[in-house]
Amino acid sequence: MPEAILTLNAGSSSIKFGLYTSESGNLAIRVKGEVEDVGDDLRMTAKDGYGARLADEDWSGEAGSTDALFRRLLDWIEAHLGDDHLVAVGHRIVHGGRDFQDSIRLTVDIVSALKGLTPLAPLHQPRSLAPIEAILELRPDLPQVGCFDTAFHRTIVPPASRYAIPSALEDEGIRRYGFHGLSYAHVASRLPDMLPGRRKVVVAHLGNGASLCAMRDGRSVDTTMGFSALDGLVMGTRPGLLDPGVLLFLMKEHGMSHDDLEDLLYRRSGMLGVSGLSADIRVLSSSDDPRAREAIDLFAFRVARETAAMANTLEGLDSIVFTGGIGENSPLVRRLVCERLVWLGVAIDPAANERGSGIITTDGSKVTAVAIAADEEIVIAEDARRLCGGTCIPAEASSRKMLSRISLKVRK
Ligand code: ADP
Repeated sequence: MPEAILTLNAGSSSIKFGLYTSESGNLAIRVKGEVEDVGDDLRMTAKDGYGARLADEDWSGEAGSTDALFRRLLDWIEAHLGDDHLVAVGHRIVHGGRDFQDSIRLTVDIVSALKGLTPLAPLHQPRSLAPIEAILELRPDLPQVGCFDTAFHRTIVPPASRYAIPSALEDEGIRRYGFHGLSYAHVASRLPDMLPGRRKVVVAHLGNGASLCAMRDGRSVDTTMGFSALDGLVMGTRPGLLDPGVLLFLMKEHGMSHDDLEDLLYRRSGMLGVSGLSADIRVLSSSDDPRAREAIDLFAFRVARETAAMANTLEGLDSIVFTGGIGENSPLVRRLVCERLVWLGVAIDPAANERGSGIITTDGSKVTAVAIAADEEIVIAEDARRLCGGTCIPAEASSRKMLSRISLKVRK
């Protein structure tokens, strides 16, 4: 019976899902969908592999309970399986800490170890783990695989991985981890065909969350996010790089608590904070308000500034890859970034940039820039198939080995 893999990517306001089947050795997308918070409603939309609409349904009745939501989603998926057999669910998990450096079969014990990493990603980690726990409860026999956003950056070593803090704190796990690793793994898998012979590449994953990765020969050697998903670039609602002295000032002079700061840093800053209008580049690009333009300019300035820093780690720059919702879809942002990098040898081709998708620089450009769609789901599906397709590795065997190595020392 043909094998099918379900992927789940639980974000801040949506759960993206994908259903893949194995066809002559390759994975083919059968269904791509999303359950999204839209105002007071919960909407489920799905398309088939050719982009034709399969569903657009109001699921608000399931809004209050994770179990009810995933029961409905699994029922819907199973009704669309046809002759295929669902062999695994693969999940995007934001933080793997120091110990989870590769995708892994998930068990109750592994999930509990991953919960121990919640202090490292207080808003993102619970969202990643909720679907896993719901499915463990609803379908205990369905194999599940966790794929980590931090894992691609396991190749980053000191000095790039270190903060200049006392070593005892570094030993506790306070170091640069980096995120968006599944998107970077997808780009790395495409590089040999897309940009043959280009060894020093900066990949810009620009979405609601945004970061850069310096890749040498397809491996991460530096990135702009660090210990948390707050560092680096300006984002939709996060400020990115911020002098820690600002936080000390706000605590002392404004009496701000941990929760106040968390709210400021995760939800009220970034392009939303600067513009006072929106976190969404589409809204900002079509606004005449000077604050909207200021927010976009600041965003592009910081992408360019950090690209130069990544090029320094790489000791050169052959290519830039733009991906993520903004990287793939905003010619304005790509142009503003590239215009600031002319001195590094980036010559944008305006017409190609407007068309998007593929090479957006001139033939003579020293640095080749390209725009491609992010596809974190295919990376998850491939890892889930590797760990669960065909002859399945027993979950207990793989997780026991892992758990015996784990010694988390992160303070709550
Ligand atoms: P996430 O980090 O949540 O996965 P995405 O990668 O989906 O985010 O990116 C979402 C952002 O991409 C939106 O907030 C918007 O700014 C931008 N975006 C999406 N589509 C377009 C478009 N067609 N044109 C310009 N920007 C877009």
